[in-house]
Amino acid sequence: MPRLLIASQNPDKIGEIRDLLDGQEVQLLSLKDFPDLSATVEDQDTLAGNAGKKALEAARNTGLLCLADDTGLFIDALEGEPGVFAARYAGEHCSYKDNRDKVLRLLQNAKDRKAEFRTCVILAAPDGIIAVKEGCMPGYIATAERGVNGFGYDSIFIPAGSDRTYAELSDSEKNAISHRALALRAILPVLKDIISSQ
Ligand code: IMP
Repeated sequence: MPRLLIASQNPDKIGEIRDLLDGQEVQLLSLKDFPDLSATVEDQDTLAGNAGKKALEAARNTGLLCLADDTGLFIDALEGEPGVFAARYAGEHCSYKDNRDKVLRLLQNAKDRKAEFRTCVILAAPDGIIAVKEGCMPGYIATAERGVNGFGYDSIFIPAGSDRTYAELSDSEKNAISHRALALRAILPVLKDIISSQ
């Protein structure tokens, strides 16, 4: 069976991507299967830059077809922050909760709570990038945390058209609409073509 490496160490993300690719004729691996590889330094200032760097490094280090994603949360009232720097918004070794607390504090009196999750997904082989796709989910920042599912900013993000935060949705409900699901669905035909030609 063809193999696909998810170029991530993040168990939350790997789980979501596994669910979204469920049913594909492919053996899924993640960077957890390659404990000796050092993590890619995410120092680019665009989602595509970071996703491309992660996918290419992993492909070249393992010789495998690789899929990487990079996600940002863009909040209008904060001039697009945290944006690409969503992981370490509250500081170098901060937790998911530290990041959510910082956003809620900065938006304490804000009327405009519009925000958008964007994901860039990149498929790469050792000799270069094969495909780049994006998914985007507009929505709002809640006034307080709600829900216990998901990870990251899920408990403070209300996707457009819903009155629940991502963290109040079941995994399958989030996976039906999320930014990452949209990006993965867009790249799926390319992946299927490659898999069927292998
Ligand atoms: P990454 O650079 O793609 O790993 O994502 C950066 C940060 O965005 C993560 O550390 C999470 O805090 C947040 N994030 C990414 N994807 C999601 C999501 O689906 N829901 C909530 N937060 C997310």
